[in-house]
Amino acid sequence: MEVLNYINGQLSPSLSGLKMDNFNPGTGQVYGTLPYSDSQDIDLAYSAALKAFENWRISSPEFKFRILNRIADLIEENLEELAQAESIDNGKPISFSRTVDIPRAAANFRFFATAAMQFASESHAMPGAINYTLRLPLGVVGCISPWNLPLYLFTWKIAPALAAGNTVVAKPSELTPVTAFKLAALCIEAGLPPGVLNIVHGTGISCGESIVAHPGIKAISFTGGTITGQKIASIAGPMFKKLSLELGGKNPNIVFADADLELAVKESVRAAFSNQGQICLCGSRIWVHKSIFQTFVDRFIAQVSKKRISFPLDPQADIGALVSKNHMEKVLSYIDVALQEGGKIAFGGQKVLLAPPYNCGWYMQPTVILNLPHDCRTNQEEIFGPVVTIAPFEEENEVLTYANSTKYGLSATLWTKDLSKAHRMAESLECGVVWVNSWLLRDLRTPFGGMKDSGVGREGGWEVMRFFTEPKNVCIKY
Ligand code: NDP
Repeated sequence: MEVLNYINGQLSPSLSGLKMDNFNPGTGQVYGTLPYSDSQDIDLAYSAALKAFENWRISSPEFKFRILNRIADLIEENLEELAQAESIDNGKPISFSRTVDIPRAAANFRFFATAAMQFASESHAMPGAINYTLRLPLGVVGCISPWNLPLYLFTWKIAPALAAGNTVVAKPSELTPVTAFKLAALCIEAGLPPGVLNIVHGTGISCGESIVAHPGIKAISFTGGTITGQKIASIAGPMFKKLSLELGGKNPNIVFADADLELAVKESVRAAFSNQGQICLCGSRIWVHKSIFQTFVDRFIAQVSKKRISFPLDPQADIGALVSKNHMEKVLSYIDVALQEGGKIAFGGQKVLLAPPYNCGWYMQPTVILNLPHDCRTNQEEIFGPVVTIAPFEEENEVLTYANSTKYGLSATLWTKDLSKAHRMAESLECGVVWVNSWLLRDLRTPFGGMKDSGVGREGGWEVMRFFTEPKNVCIKY
């Protein structure tokens, strides 16, 4: 499988001709290549995007709607092929790609196709004059996405950027380039004009940083790690680029004594281990009221122990491979940290060896750790793998302090039947998203993003349409 760049409507290798290996996490083997693009390729993509902007920005909302909606249709028509490609490339179970990643990629295009038709701006009347606000596309914008939900997060940025009338230079993660490559073919089939979307593959440094530093690219929408976000901000900030940064998380999952225990256990397991724990929204710090602590832990572990760890295309797999060897080693290193900190491994903690041809794949057990205080490294640093801690609490204020004690502030989940308590907690939790009695229940109209080191800005709905446009006020005196 040779992945190619998509620049000016054409599929092509990098200008230098250099390539990189693409690994299959399920087998640990190289199974393809992708272009090792650099600033020359970004310059080419930028020129194509700038030229395409002339027509795309003034094309009618109906035209944009038809094309973006057609891309959504094509993603749905090719769901199985895309789901298999995503699972092979990322290591995730095929059941997850089929039901989460690919349907959501289609939904992103469908949702923002309609946004192109419905986006509106404000007017403010005053005595003797009226102001109206134009919301103009920015020009060429950059979108950079991570490997954990490859096509899902890539399209979550591209679709609104295009709907708002911008043209795009985008880079998926070098670890998971394949579905972005397949998307390029679907864009061609859908009749997206050449240059409106350009997808350039390569490393973060050679390709991603060239997008961020390009003087003509007006805004950067980035999802990834906090350290990378800092680097990007340090380059884009002095250039006064608009920045949307969706960064890491270390999310609390709090189970009160009055929770529906069956639901809380089932959904907390899902929140902990979906996608091998590699979702920025995973609830990895679980606190349970001490009156139900032991029951919760017993039931939680009973459910975790039934999870089937298997190769990604196994339809019965619950837990697949981690995305890379480096990442698996990083996650496993936190098991040692937890042990040094006095943690007790109540379940898992080990690498898993599957039968050939999967015996070199990057699998590990879902891991449950007890006995750790809220302020230890295991509970403060983002592990981004199938590792959770569970600890008891007594008072609402006590657990609030624990929940807010990290530098991150992405999401939180609460399990309680007491609505007043849920409201109180939701208001005081330092994070951008709070779920009560649910997890990862998403309405694409809602603001999505984090506080503190989890990021700057919000995606979703009108928030992202505003991000991708420049407001200009026009005041007319009459
Ligand atoms: P990284 O920050 O390593 O990479 C994210 C993207 O940025 C990749 O495409 C990467 O390219 C690119 N990149 C890396 N370095 C640079 C650079 N200097 N300049 C420009 N681009 C660069 O994150 P991961 O891919 O490892 O993703 C995991 C992280 O993403 C976790 O911290 C997770 O919490 C976070 N995340 C946040 C979400 C949110 O909505 N808040 C959602 C999902 C994940 P390459 O891969 O080629 O190096």
